[in-house]
Amino acid sequence: MRPPAPRPPADTVADPVLVLGAGPVGQTAALLLARRGVPVRIVDTRPERDAVGSKAICQQRDVLDVWDWLGAGTIAEEGLTWDTARTFYRDRELFSVRLPDPGASPLPPFVNISQSRTEQVLDHLLDEAGVRTLWDHRVTGITQDDDGVDVECATPDGPVRLRGSHALACLGAHGGVVREALGLGFEGTSFDDRFLICDIRADLPGWERERRFYFDPEWNPGRQVLI
Ligand SMILES: Cc1cc2nc3c(=O)[nH]c(=O)nc-3n(C[C@H](O)[C@H](O)[C@H](O)COP(=O)(O)OP(=O)(O)OC[C@H]3O[C@@H](n4cnc5c(N)ncnc54)[C@H](O)[C@@H]3O)c2cc1C
Repeated sequence: MRPPAPRPPADTVADPVLVLGAGPVGQTAALLLARRGVPVRIVDTRPERDAVGSKAICQQRDVLDVWDWLGAGTIAEEGLTWDTARTFYRDRELFSVRLPDPGASPLPPFVNISQSRTEQVLDHLLDEAGVRTLWDHRVTGITQDDDGVDVECATPDGPVRLRGSHALACLGAHGGVVREALGLGFEGTSFDDRFLICDIRADLPGWERERRFYFDPEWNPGRQVLI
């Protein structure tokens, strides 16, 4: 019996699916397509992957399940699951809630892990699958016809037009250009408050598995602090 013909690298095939955005949603979509043998290419405006940054820090079991299936089980293993949520007003504890694991699954109900680490793990799988990311490509427009889509990009070397069979918009909160081209809104509300988010490595003996919310603490009066 003849061995199966080797599949060409995913990004050398004409008219791949263009995944717009190399965040975790775009990476996961690209991996799922590649796993099914669909040629795929990712496009992102960033010059390269961010080395640090927690951002989407909480990942729930259903997402971990998809990543586990794709070969990224290390995200669940490396992530931290806390099981107690404590809320304080000044120096007084208002209440404490225990979060029991709600199901019989080998995966935790959720983990905290930095988005930069998640993206790094998924990038490794994309490399293995032969899926290339075109960095420094800012999507500026998109049109479609009966056979596919044209995606206009601004790059440091000038404008580029990419042709794809389909485009998947995974541009996150700043994907207005594609939403507008498709006539889609982005409904919802925002907080007026500003938040400072820091990634800090610290020893916190006894409360490694707790989430603490402080309102108006003496050490930061008039503010809220979430740890
Ligand atoms: C400071 C901060 C803190 C956050 N904290 C949390 C948190 O605690 N929990 C939580 O769940 N979420 C948090 N978020 C939100 C979290 O980052 C998003 O939920 C998550 O990134 C969504 O993933 P995504 O793949 O949909 O989008 P993104 O990660 O935003 O990925 C979109 C990608 O599209 C690219 N892109 C955008 N526009 C274009 C364009 N025109 N052309 C080409 N590429 C483009 C971007 O460069 C990016 O790589 C935080 C975000 C920030 C900024």
